[in-house]
This record gives sequence, C-alpha cells and structure tokens, in this order.
Amino acid sequence: MDKQPKSEQLSINTATVRQQWKLGQIIDGCARHDIRGISPWRDQVQELGLKETARRIRDNGLTVTGYCRGGMFTGIDDAARKKADDDNRRAVDEALEVRASCLVLVVGGLPNDSKDLPGARNQVRDGLANLLDYSRRMSMPLAIEPLHPMYAADRACVNTLCQANDLCDELGDEGLGIAVDLYHTWWDPEFFPQLERAGKKRILAFHICDWLVPTRDLLLDRGMMGDGVIDIRAARLAVEKLGYEGLHEVEIFSQHDWWQRDPDEVLVTCKQRHLDCC
Ligand code: ZN
Repeated sequence: MDKQPKSEQLSINTATVRQQWKLGQIIDGCARHDIRGISPWRDQVQELGLKETARRIRDNGLTVTGYCRGGMFTGIDDAARKKADDDNRRAVDEALEVRASCLVLVVGGLPNDSKDLPGARNQVRDGLANLLDYSRRMSMPLAIEPLHPMYAADRACVNTLCQANDLCDELGDEGLGIAVDLYHTWWDPEFFPQLERAGKKRILAFHICDWLVPTRDLLLDRGMMGDGVIDIRAARLAVEKLGYEGLHEVEIFSQHDWWQRDPDEVLVTCKQRHLDCC
C-alpha cells in the first residue's frame, strides 16, 4: 500500500467553499482543479435544481461521495418525527438522483426542552429503522455519522463509532453503515478497534479535516489538514487496510479562515495537503 494517497482519491464536501461559491461554481471548480469527487448539501442542490445538479455532476464525471444530509430523527412528538421521516425519504430520492454513494445522517440531538438523552437515542434507533424500510427498497445506503460529543444536545446524540456500530448490529448492516469523520472521532480511545469492528462493509465514507488547538468555535473552526493535531495519515491507512476503497472527503467549516479565502486557493491547498498530510 502506498504511504501517500493518490490525488484522484480526493473529494470535496461543498461546505468547504460554500461561503464563497454557489454549487454550480463549486462543480466547475472541482473540474478546473481536477478534483474527482464531491459531496453536496441539500440546500445548495435545491438552489441549483436537482436535475441540473445531477446533470452537471454527471457531465463532469464526478463521484458523489455522499449526500448531505438526512437524519434529525429526534422530535418532541409523533408529528415532528413523522415530518422528519417524510423529509428523509425525499433526501433518499435526491441522493439517488445525484447518484450519491450514501446518504449521510446527522441523527439529531435532544428534542426541545427534553433532558431525556437515552430517550433521544431510542428515537434515533426507531427513526432509523423506519427510514431503512424505504432506503433499502430504493437501494440507497445510509451512513450514520457519529458527531463529537459536544454536539450531543443540539445535533447528534450518536457520538462514537461504538454507538454507530451498535446501531448497525441492532438494525442490520445491509444498506446501513458509518460515515467516519475524523473531526468527530479522532479523540476516541476506541477509534481503531471500532474501525476494525466496522470493517470494509460498514465504512461508507471517510471525512477529513484537522482539529485546531485552540479551537475558537465549536462549529465553524475546523482546520485544514496538517494544521492541527489529528494523525490523518494513520487513520487513512487504517481504513484502507480494512479494505475501504472510497474517496477522502475534505469537509472544512471555517468561518474566520478558509471561508474568507479565495476558493481557488482553498482547493489548491486541499489538494496539496491531501498529498502531504493524509
Ligand atoms: Zn462529516
């Protein structure tokens, strides 16, 4: 196995340059910089139009490494959870239209005014089971993305690879797996054993960026690969040793740094750091 990744293994999550460019420009930017993968967000797709997005992605021969995003299974009552399920089914349809390799799921945190974290986690399991009824029929894999525990209240109460693996065990891992995002999982003492437990079958996506010290914002201060403390190469070699053959998706929310820069410079930097640090 090569120690250095290949440039064609790079994918760009469109959040990385979304403050500077609209989706059409991002697709053009990927083509211009010879970046072969993309992972678009739903609101951007809606703005450009689903069919038009699918057409442009196809015309440029881009691999869609994930569709962002579905989930948010937790809700204060049945009506809220039903609404989420309806919306998630539409997200599955959209993911199919753009030929995404998976629908990425941010599962939801505590419902408003609730302090029932175990209850929220049960809602996630039940919501996921409902959605699987549909996504399996449609052959769109669902990728549970464990989020760092600092988001347990407001974004996702699945916070570790272990929890995601447990859900795959309980619900079955046909059409269900995990999006491994290093920003969320690098700190976990169980990181490598849980990757092994997941194995090739369950690792559906691999998201990269870096953890800055200090981190100035809980959401919008992710680092460029190489600028922080994550051993990205060790993690990448580990997933590939398990047989992961997907792309390496750069996902950087960076209000005060990368979102302020010339987006062409951002893409050039992503390409170089991918080769040097990943
Ligand atoms: Zn991610």
